[in-house]
Amino acid sequence: MEKFQKVMQMTLSFKERIPISEALRKAEGDRVLIAGWVHTVRVVGGVSFVVIRDRSGMVQCVAKKNVNPEAFNIVKELGSEDVVAVKGSLISSKASLGGKEIVIDEIYVISRAAKPVPIDPDDWEKTSLATRLDWRFLDLRSPRNRVIFEVTDVAINAMRDFYRSNGFIEIFTPKIVAEATEGGAEVFPVIYFDRNAFLAQSPQLYKQMMVISGFERVFEVGPVYRAEKHHTNRHLTEYESVDIEMGFIDDHEDVMRMVERAVQHTIETVSSKYGKIVEEYFKIKLDTPKYVPRITFREAHKLLESNGFKQPDPNDIDSEGEKALGEIIEREYGTQLFYVTEYPWVKRPFYTMKKDNDPNYTKSFDLIYRGMEIVSGSQREHRAEVLESQIKEKGLSVESFNFFIRVFRYGAPPHGGSGLGLERLVAQMLGIKNIREARLLPRDPERLTP
Ligand code: ATP
Ligand code: MG
Repeated sequence: MEKFQKVMQMTLSFKERIPISEALRKAEGDRVLIAGWVHTVRVVGGVSFVVIRDRSGMVQCVAKKNVNPEAFNIVKELGSEDVVAVKGSLISSKASLGGKEIVIDEIYVISRAAKPVPIDPDDWEKTSLATRLDWRFLDLRSPRNRVIFEVTDVAINAMRDFYRSNGFIEIFTPKIVAEATEGGAEVFPVIYFDRNAFLAQSPQLYKQMMVISGFERVFEVGPVYRAEKHHTNRHLTEYESVDIEMGFIDDHEDVMRMVERAVQHTIETVSSKYGKIVEEYFKIKLDTPKYVPRITFREAHKLLESNGFKQPDPNDIDSEGEKALGEIIEREYGTQLFYVTEYPWVKRPFYTMKKDNDPNYTKSFDLIYRGMEIVSGSQREHRAEVLESQIKEKGLSVESFNFFIRVFRYGAPPHGGSGLGLERLVAQMLGIKNIREARLLPRDPERLTP
């Protein structure tokens, strides 16, 4: 019979359990109860070793055959990813992780893992990303992979703190909507009782409504859905968007200043809390870019051209262009974070404000970090009649946007805002090549499970 039985009847209580990181800080001779997953098992002569992993770290536990034959035998029979609990005392051990190990007094097998385990958390790199995502709950047992989401947690909390402390309130807007927010066909239809609805592509129109409602400054962290059949390393069909919208601005520069400070604060916070760990696992240094230059879209095109990069679309900058621009700006300005401003009207959504005396261009911006767009934003058109004509200009139906246009007829201040892709920010901070790695359970045109 396994010791499993014993757990039920006897003295083991997880209330006494401490995290492995805390156990490793205890003095030699101290008794501890730890529990976690079996990382590796080894038997050398009359000694069996098991490395146990919990959310806080790993520790090696040992049992000698001639001292504790029962524990020796249990350890010998353990398999990867079994869940176990160990009571024992600390001894120092130069050869071990953390300089200490635990001599096992009692060991309990709490849950056995089936064999073979499809992914070895100690060797996840050997596994293709597709298989890793199929077995995501196992993939995340690798400390390196879990760090991605610990960093995401730190990052989003830093963002929230930043915006709150600047007078923004967090709002929650509908994700089931009657109209495609940005127009276009890139929406997922939903059967809504006996009607058709869509999954929201962005909280755009609602956050603008809330500024005009009188909140003035709002932000939202929530999923957005894009029915684009992208097969790139930068696109998901479901991602987490950090949206802001603020009223009483002079122009888009006011939004840009707010967003760059939010991003700097976020990188700074992640760097101070996780900088060392990020360097260890991702071999990348997290410096906070201090200086964020602005270049206009037209300057960006000239820069690309003069550096030998052809842009297929004169009204756009493609991902290769962003990457090249990132290198050029880093070389010339020594920074990995910069704005491209004043995008052509043809490429921006109907609610974007045009430039005053230059209506082919807009009061808009993208923020590029380490060669990839992470934010798009703009000043919005707040004059109802201009908004209506821009809707027509984009070939959209004024009637279906009436719920939106009427908002502007009852007192709308100048305002602007932006949307940041959380997975892109995290991927760029960590130097992750494929955005799917930065989403817990990613959705793309092929993947709908797990
Ligand atoms: P791209 O040109 O890279 O496809 P976009 O300009 O269409 O992006 P926006 O509508 O401007 O995207 O979205 C704002 C931000 O949301 C982007 O800067 C990016 O960080 C993020 N984002 C946009 N689309 C996706 C996606 N499909 N998957 C993950 N993040 C995305
Ligand atoms: Mg964009």
